[in-house]
Amino acid sequence: MCGVFGVFDHKSAAYLTYLGLHALQHRGQESVGIAVSDGYDINLKLGNGLVTKAIKEEDIKELKGDLAIGHVRYSTSGGSNPKNIQPFFAHFYGGAFAIAHNGNLVNAHELRMFLEKDGAIFRSTSDTEVFIHLIARAKEPPPSHIILHKNDKEFIPHIFEAMKKVKGAYSLVILRERQLIAVRDPYGFRPLVLGKNRTGSYFVASETCALDIVDAEYLRDVNPGEVLVIDDAGLRSYYPFENLEKLAKCIFEYVYFARPDSKIFKDWVYGIRKEMGKNLAKEYKIEADYVVPVLDSGLLAAKGYSEESGIPLEIGLIRNHYVGRSFIQPTQDIRDLSVKLKLNPVRYVVENKRLIVIDDSLVRGTTSRKIINMLKEAGAKEVHLLISSPPVIDSCYYGIDTPTKEELIANKMSIEEIRKYIGADSLHYLSLEGMLKAANKFRQKGFCTACFTSDYPIL
Ligand code: SF4
Repeated sequence: MCGVFGVFDHKSAAYLTYLGLHALQHRGQESVGIAVSDGYDINLKLGNGLVTKAIKEEDIKELKGDLAIGHVRYSTSGGSNPKNIQPFFAHFYGGAFAIAHNGNLVNAHELRMFLEKDGAIFRSTSDTEVFIHLIARAKEPPPSHIILHKNDKEFIPHIFEAMKKVKGAYSLVILRERQLIAVRDPYGFRPLVLGKNRTGSYFVASETCALDIVDAEYLRDVNPGEVLVIDDAGLRSYYPFENLEKLAKCIFEYVYFARPDSKIFKDWVYGIRKEMGKNLAKEYKIEADYVVPVLDSGLLAAKGYSEESGIPLEIGLIRNHYVGRSFIQPTQDIRDLSVKLKLNPVRYVVENKRLIVIDDSLVRGTTSRKIINMLKEAGAKEVHLLISSPPVIDSCYYGIDTPTKEELIANKMSIEEIRKYIGADSLHYLSLEGMLKAANKFRQKGFCTACFTSDYPIL
C-alpha cells in the first residue's frame, strides 16, 4: 500500500506536498519522495523512512516550483531496494516527467520481459517503472472517441496506450513541467480524490485527510478509468476505455487501511467502519461487561458494536504511539515482549471482567494470541475476540502487502482451531454479507473482496 499526493499552482508546492504526505504516512513508512516543477525543470528529493526523517527543511527550500507530486511507499512489488523510491523521473522528447504509483500491476513481469527483450533497460525492480517504458514507447493514435485539447496531443496519448497494456491496480500522479495528471485504473481498486483550496490551487491525494491538512476542499473522486489533466488551461477529463470494467474498489480500505477521518470512494470511512461493528453486534450477541477495541484500527467497529449491543465501551488496552518500526528483536523471548511495546492492558478496566475484544482483521494470529494472553494475565475473566471482517484466506495482488497464502491462519485452520490457538473464549468474524451491507448502507457497490473470497477481479 502506498500514498500519493499532487499540487498544481501553489508557490509552496513542495511544502504542501510534505504536509500531504505526512497525512498519508499510514499508507507507507518505508520511503518518501517529492518531485517539484518550476515550469522548466523537475527536481526530486528521495529518502528512506518516515516523511519527517527523510525530508528536511533545507530540502524543501531547495525544491522550488509551484507544481509537485509526492509518494510514501510500503513495498509490495520490487522489495525495499532504495532504487525503488518514488516518484520516478524520466526524460521525454525534450521534456521530462515524474510518476508516483499506488497499487500493483499483475502483468508487470510479462511486460518487463517483453520490454527488456525489446531493448529497455530498467533501473529499479518496481512494477511502476513499466509505466515509464510503456509511455516512452507508445506510438498509437488516441482512441477515436477522444478529442484532445491542444496541450495534450503530445504526451497524453502515451498514457492511454500504457493504460491499455497494463493490468492491475493503479492510482497515479504524473508531473510534467506545467501539468499535473491523475490517473485511476478502470476497476478503481485504490482511492484517488481531487480537491481545491480558496486561492484556486488544485490537489490530488489518496485520501481526503491529505486535503484537510492543506486546507483544500474535496471536489470529487478521480473516477475509475479517468485521466484527469490539470494545467494553466484548466481541468480536462479523458476516458480512454470505451467500456469500463466491473468496479473492484478495495473493501479492505474501509476495513483497515484508510484513515477514519477520510472520505474515499465517495463515502466516509468512519461511518462504514462503525457500521461494520454494528453488523457484528447483530450477528453475535454475547454477554459481557465491556467492549474493548484493539487500538487504533478496531476503535470504530468497537464503537458500533457497543452502540448496537448496549454494552459499554472501555479502553482496556492502551497503545503506545512511539514504537518505531525498526525495533530490533533479537530473540524469541524479546519478540514475545514486543507486542507489549505497542499495547498494554489496563488492569483497572479488565480485572475480573468479561470482555468482547474487537479487532479489524486477523491475519497471522500471532498478535491476537499475545493480546489475549496479556488480557488474561491482567485478570480478565473471559475474552471473546470479534473481528469486523471475514477470515482472510488469500493474498492480495493489487497493492496490499498481505502475507503469502500459506502464512494466513484462516487458510490453515478452522475457526475453532484458530480460537484454541489464540486462547480466546470465543472467536467470531463478521460475515461477508455483513461487511458488504455496511458499505451498501451508504449506497456503495462494486468491491474487490478477493482476500476473503478468492474471487479475483483480474487473474
Ligand atoms: Fe483489497 Fe483484498 Fe482485494 Fe487486495 S484482495 S484489493 S486487500 S479486497
